[in-house]
Amino acid sequence: MAFITKTHQEEALAALQDLVAIPSVLDESQAKPGQPFGPECLRALEHTLALCESLGLRTFKDPEGYYGYAEVGQGEELFGILCHLDVVPAVGQTGWKTEPFTPVVTDETIIGRGTQDDKGPTIAALYGVKALLDAKVTFNQRVRFIFGTDEENLWRCINRYNEKEEMITAGFVPDSKFPLTFAEKGLLQVYFEGPGSDQLALQAGGSLNVVPDHAEYQGSEAAAVASELKKLGYDFQQQGEGIAVAGKSVHSKLAPQGVNAISRLAEALVNTGEFANPILEIVGNVIKEDATGESLVGLFTDEVSGSMTLNVANITITPESSRVGLDIRYPVTLEKETLVKALGEVCAEYGVTYREHDYIAPLYVPLDSELIVTLLGTYRELTGDMTEPFVNGGATFARAMNNCVAFGAMFVDTPDYLHQANEQWPLASLYQVMEIYAETIYRICCK
Ligand SMILES: [Zn+2]
Repeated sequence: MAFITKTHQEEALAALQDLVAIPSVLDESQAKPGQPFGPECLRALEHTLALCESLGLRTFKDPEGYYGYAEVGQGEELFGILCHLDVVPAVGQTGWKTEPFTPVVTDETIIGRGTQDDKGPTIAALYGVKALLDAKVTFNQRVRFIFGTDEENLWRCINRYNEKEEMITAGFVPDSKFPLTFAEKGLLQVYFEGPGSDQLALQAGGSLNVVPDHAEYQGSEAAAVASELKKLGYDFQQQGEGIAVAGKSVHSKLAPQGVNAISRLAEALVNTGEFANPILEIVGNVIKEDATGESLVGLFTDEVSGSMTLNVANITITPESSRVGLDIRYPVTLEKETLVKALGEVCAEYGVTYREHDYIAPLYVPLDSELIVTLLGTYRELTGDMTEPFVNGGATFARAMNNCVAFGAMFVDTPDYLHQANEQWPLASLYQVMEIYAETIYRICCK
């Protein structure tokens, strides 16, 4: 049955305009107790909770201002809808034809920062529930909207929620694409740290998320390094006294599709036989050009999410110390402990130290689970779109909770404005998504 009326559409559109008008960008310069992410993130949270209250939901605001939630229904089970109210900056971003925080509604679309990510989808889900309330359905489980305000940065909001609040039994995140993303590799970012070197000074690479496309050697062995690079068939340029190796930069999760300049340079450096350093040895003699991690810890792969990826993201060698930063994305069925143990064994073998930098658990909900069968079935029935569910569809809050997947709210053919100028969402999509969410929540929580 159709739950969404014209009135719901109009109210949702008005509510979305109000929310987009709040420039809820992280502002740590104005952080203080109760307002950890600045005044506008807090205002977006308080505004949304007041809206939920007015729609008939019970609300709770974290006294420290990290998160809030709004709930309806009763029962043991808690169905979560995980949203975020913060947005990426827009002021100063070139290309905007309108004011990013002054929403503009045309016949076809609504334009403004947050209309796609994630205020539009949040409002769509909220008014889906409002429509169910108006239809006087009975909720057999509680439906809880969880509102984060630090998603675009460090997830301090949802992490705090997880420390303090009730876990959901199942849920979805309206912050990606339809049909849904059910599997996402785990993320492990680590440093190996070792002794310094008097013969070799090296500094290359940057962010752990990026395959480095440039690495330079400066020193007395430039001719030998050049000759080894030639033998290996790797591109390089002579720059005065130095050697510059070029690579191809891609996101770390696509590491095998890039060309890692650090790995190539390290391999040539090792091959000269002039430099003895365990960090260099690990990169240039063990990992080399292998971006799957197989040469380092063995082959880890599974049918659901494919092979592990490994990116040698940065390296520093000074007289005092050496270190390499690795970004690893590992298959969903692999236990983190197994991987950490294997990495630890390599470190022990080479006499270097293992240090964990960041970790995000994999996301995996089997396709034959009740949650996915219902979400996918409802979506397909209402749209006729038979697109297969995604693996690695982008990191969302779904990874912060068990039995939770990313479900919408962009259609396969929705123009992608994620984090871009002139962010906008077609009104037809907004209204259709309200219906999809209403029907989905009805089937899961009201039957
Ligand atoms: Zn988002």
